[in-house]
Formats: sequence, C-alpha cells, structure tokens
Amino acid sequence: MKKLEEYVRSIPDFPEPGIIFRDITTILQDPDGLHLAIQSMQDKLKDTEFDVVVGTESRGFIFGVPIAYNLHKAFVPVRKKGKLPCETVSMEYDLEYGSAVIEMHKDSIKPGQKVVLVDDLVATGGTIEAAIKLVEELGGEVVKVVFLMELAGLKGRERLKGYEVESVLCYD
Ligand code: AMP
Repeated sequence: MKKLEEYVRSIPDFPEPGIIFRDITTILQDPDGLHLAIQSMQDKLKDTEFDVVVGTESRGFIFGVPIAYNLHKAFVPVRKKGKLPCETVSMEYDLEYGSAVIEMHKDSIKPGQKVVLVDDLVATGGTIEAAIKLVEELGGEVVKVVFLMELAGLKGRERLKGYEVESVLCYD
C-alpha cells in the first residue's frame, strides 16, 4: 500500500512564485488515500476526550466531518464572513496580502465544551489562531489541534504555543 505522502501532489509556484502548493485532491480521489488520511488524523485523537470537532472553511470541513462522524462527536463549521445566517462572533486576521474575516454561530459551542480543531494544513498558523480565538470567545476549551500537513518552516507551531498541536505529515 502507498504511503500517505505519496498521495500528496506538490505544485511549485502556485498560486504565486515561491510557494509549493500541497494539493489534497489527489489524496481524496483515491479510496485508499482518503481512508489513510482520515484514519491518520483520527489516530491522533485516540486518547483525547472531547465533545466537538471545529473545522475551518473549506478544507477543514473535508477532514473534520468524517472524523466527527466516526468518533460520534458534533461538528461545527468556521465560515468565511457573510455565510452564516444566525447571530455570529467574528474575527479578523492577517493574510500575506490584506486580511480575512471568519465567523461562527454564537450558539454553536456551549461554555465548557471540549473542542478539537481540524484543518488540512498549517502554514503561518494565522487561520487556526483566529479560529481558536472564536472558540474561546464562546467559552469552548481547545484540547487539541490536528492538521494533515504542517509547513514547519513557517513556524505555525510556535504561534500556537500553549496548545497541543498534532500533524500527520511535516514539510520543511
Ligand atoms: P495559515 O493561516 O498561514 O496557517 O494558512 C493556512 C491555510 O492556507 C490552510 O488552511 C491551507 O489550506 C492554506 N495553505 C497555506 N499554504 C499552503 C500550501 N503551501 N499548500 C496548500 N495550502 C496552503
């Protein structure tokens, strides 16, 4: 059987020069790749007690929902601004060029609930840091953060100091 890293397609200079884009579509389009990815992320939660998986739009949904489903937990989406219909909390964070806003429904996390955050990849950690702030604003306790891939050179892990961070694949 192929290893998980063999399913990742790496595209140099996308979406701009100097970036190596780690494409997950080649994992998802193979039944063994998809199974291996979900299972490997889920294994990181073997000894973790928690109530809710929070996933960030949109690749965090792809991995977050099956993990929540398999472990019989709830799933809560973090969405880009303007997509959620009810009362929200929102957080602005910096991108390489400009900024972005993400939102969660105010009633999506109950105070004291134990939360696992899931995303496909951590680069600078800016996105997940903003999502963590929203979860905490709602009274959730972040017990773990799980990524399929980590770009170690961008030091997202340092930004998330104080949180338990797990990644399945690590790139320099
Ligand atoms: P960051 O907020 O810098 O940690 O960026 C995280 C988000 O940007 C992740 O959810 C990824 O989906 C996307 N991303 C950043 N860098 C890459 C990359 N080299 N390849 C694929 N996706 C990336």
